Amino acid sequence: MKISDKQLELVNGRIDALVEADSFYGKKLKAAGVKHVSDAEEFEQLPFSEKSDLREAYPLGLMTAPEEKIVRIHSSSGTTGLPVIIPYTAKDVDDWAIMFKRCYEYAGVTNKDRIQITPGYGLWTAGIGFQNGAEKLGAMTVPMGPGNTEKQIQMMIDMKTTVLCSTSSYALLLAEEIEKRGIQDKIHLKKGIMGSERWSQKMRDKIQSVLGIELFDIYGLTEIYGPGIGINCPGETGMHIWDDYLYVEIIDPQTGKNLPDGEWGEIVITTLVKEGAPLIRYRTHDMSRIIPDKCHCGRDYPMIDVIKGRTDDMMKIKGVNVFPNQIEEILARFEELNSEYQIRISHLDGKDTMRIYVEAKSGSYDFQEVGGRFAEAVKSKIGFTPIVKVVEIGVLPRSEKKAKRVIDERYDSE
Ligand code: ZN
Repeated sequence: MKISDKQLELVNGRIDALVEADSFYGKKLKAAGVKHVSDAEEFEQLPFSEKSDLREAYPLGLMTAPEEKIVRIHSSSGTTGLPVIIPYTAKDVDDWAIMFKRCYEYAGVTNKDRIQITPGYGLWTAGIGFQNGAEKLGAMTVPMGPGNTEKQIQMMIDMKTTVLCSTSSYALLLAEEIEKRGIQDKIHLKKGIMGSERWSQKMRDKIQSVLGIELFDIYGLTEIYGPGIGINCPGETGMHIWDDYLYVEIIDPQTGKNLPDGEWGEIVITTLVKEGAPLIRYRTHDMSRIIPDKCHCGRDYPMIDVIKGRTDDMMKIKGVNVFPNQIEEILARFEELNSEYQIRISHLDGKDTMRIYVEAKSGSYDFQEVGGRFAEAVKSKIGFTPIVKVVEIGVLPRSEKKAKRVIDERYDSE
């Protein structure tokens, strides 16, 4: 999927703006002597932008449009160091809502739907992104924000909510609660739009079976508008990406070289029309691939596959590269086990140790026997045997935001 002439023209417009604003990337371009790019090869030689560059620009170093045009900022969570501040112009806010509306439309959501929004509002892009898209569509929103499960369920029943927007972890928590109370017949949900977290097939199956809803994955990241830059097509796992606003590349995360369509690698995104904080060749650290075949729906928007993980989720244990996704794939084969898991990696007596906690479904299982078989399955997939501990359902922490499933204790000082 080479960059088109139309997209190149838009990139050149962004290069002009960045150089003029003398932002971090404008400086990079000047240093590299780049004025314009005229073909795919030249484009692929443009320097990458990284989250660390964005952090260094704190607080407002990314601002590329004149201040009088900036109407809002958003910020990514600052769990490691300074947060990233992204300024938006009115046009950026509107473009984002147009993209998000398109996501709802692809999922078959209409202005007759009632959309309950559980992600957080505020500096974070999630809640307000879902909100603006829904308003653009003309649907009624129930802007709950996160937490307060009691009230969420009450509103879901009373408002006859038809669409649930949430993280997959929170949808699972709600599904389990609804199942526990036996109130499925009072729930009117038809669709779930899940954002901002990678999830396993098993989790999806559980949410779908309890709530009886069709699920969609929405893609996005704060640095690039927020959620809503792509969504999976009904009946497909692949997600269409709005290439009139964004250009997507897949690179080898180690070498930085572009990979052919179909190969797995790191997603790199260029914003084509963003004004407040345009980004060129931004490394997302999300792992996916471009799906080379045309979608059955016949639409031309390119597709990326389900996000397999993050380049920084990769765990190096005993010299082997392990992705959480591989553990999820094994988990999916075990009928006896739930979708939740936790991986703890520690370093004891000069050796790496991987412990995996999994939850048994309700019913009577021989925990030790199931755990033994699970450990065997992991060994045959990744090459070494972990310590597996099967626990009762509900023991592992559930989260209203993103669940933390991998805990690396090797470098903690005690
Ligand atoms: Zn499609």
